[in-house]
Amino acid sequence: MERTNARYKTSLKVYFPSPADVEVFVTEKGINSFYESVENRKECCYIRKVKPLNRALNGAKVWITGLRAEQSENRKRMPMIEWDETKQLYKFNPLINWSNEEMIAYLRDHNVPYNPLHDKGFISIGCAPCTRAIEQGEDARAGRWWWEMSKKECGLHSGNKINNLK
Ligand code: SF4
Repeated sequence: MERTNARYKTSLKVYFPSPADVEVFVTEKGINSFYESVENRKECCYIRKVKPLNRALNGAKVWITGLRAEQSENRKRMPMIEWDETKQLYKFNPLINWSNEEMIAYLRDHNVPYNPLHDKGFISIGCAPCTRAIEQGEDARAGRWWWEMSKKECGLHSGNKINNLK
C-alpha cells in the first residue's frame, strides 16, 4: 500500500502483518496472549513487527533508524553505522548520540510533526495494548511491556527470531 506524505512530498509504502500469521497466532494463543509470557509477546512482535519490517527491507542496502543510545541499555552499545549480518545491509543510526532534549529542540525549531502522546508521558510508543505513559524518574522504556522485567525490545533491533516461524 502506498501513499504520499504531503508535508515531505515523499511516497510511503506501508507494510502490514500477514493476515494468515495473525489468524493462526490469535486462534492458537488467544487475542491477548502477549500478556501471558515473554515468549508469546516476542512471537506477537515477530509476526506483527519484525516480519513486515523484513519484507520492507528486502533488497535494501541501508536501513536508517531513529534509535538513540539513551533509550535503553541495549541501545547504548550501538554504533552510528554497523553492518547487519542477518539482513545483509548497513544500519545507520544518525540520532544515536542525540539526547532527548536535543531531539525536542530539533522538533520545535524545525516544526516537525510528532505524536501528541509524547506530551502526555508516552516517551516510547509502541502498539496500544503494550504502551503506557511513564512516571517522573522512570526509565524511558518503562512504559513498553510494563508487566515484564525483560530487555524491553521487540526484536526489530535486537535480532530476536522465533524459530518456528519463517
Ligand atoms: S507491541 Fe504488543 S501488540 Fe504490538 S506486536 Fe508487540 S506484543 Fe504484539
